[in-house]
Amino acid sequence: MSIASLVTQQNVSDSEWAIRCELAALYRVIDNLRMTDLVYTHLSARVPDEPNCFLINQWGELFDEVTASSLVKMDLDGNVIGEQGAFNSAGFTIHSACYMAREDVNCAVHLHTKASIAVASVRCGLLPLSQHSLYVVDDLAYHDYEGPAVDLDERENLGRDLADKNNLLLRNHGLLSVGRSIPEAFRNAYYLEQSCAIQVAAQSLGDELILLSDDIVENMGKTKRERFRTADDTGQLEWDALVRQLDRQGADYKR
Ligand SMILES: [Zn+2]
Repeated sequence: MSIASLVTQQNVSDSEWAIRCELAALYRVIDNLRMTDLVYTHLSARVPDEPNCFLINQWGELFDEVTASSLVKMDLDGNVIGEQGAFNSAGFTIHSACYMAREDVNCAVHLHTKASIAVASVRCGLLPLSQHSLYVVDDLAYHDYEGPAVDLDERENLGRDLADKNNLLLRNHGLLSVGRSIPEAFRNAYYLEQSCAIQVAAQSLGDELILLSDDIVENMGKTKRERFRTADDTGQLEWDALVRQLDRQGADYKR
């Protein structure tokens, strides 16, 4: 029996159901933006009032199949809470590492977009090339490739690399962005992905790149980052618009 038929709005707390709906919406938004990789990659959210538990997609579901009830609830030791549900073991390694390393993190987004893998696979990494990049370029670290992230020992290195940054480029692999909320983590991942895509496009033109000056990166970028990183509603404006779009489309993520 699928776990989707076992979890209902009636048998979880109101706060857990709300975060289930919001995380399921995130899967649908990422799908709408074509940032998926078949049934691979994963998005997660910490369960409110249960800091040692998080929600993640069920193994094998496409992002546009994920619903509030189909999400799997796990603790940081890898136990599935409630009825059994299959999960991606690399997903457990990556996402539990985020929540173990950072008490302030309540959402983590891991993607295998072509642009992020490309930029993660060149020595220079992300360059201060576009306005988009100003949001993330100095809130970004790199994590060396250690294999498909099924070895739990990798959590220590992931936690170290994420210690004071909200975005990681995983060398040869993809991106990992975190946030205090689902809207904030989405916003970080979106700007990192867009920055990578713009860089790949610009580098493909074969002309000399015009990098933003150190002054702009330091001053304008710093101003923007401080405003967004200290506000409690970072990403909320865009997020609400994207959820309205889902609802206009009749997306059934709240099931
Ligand atoms: Zn991955």
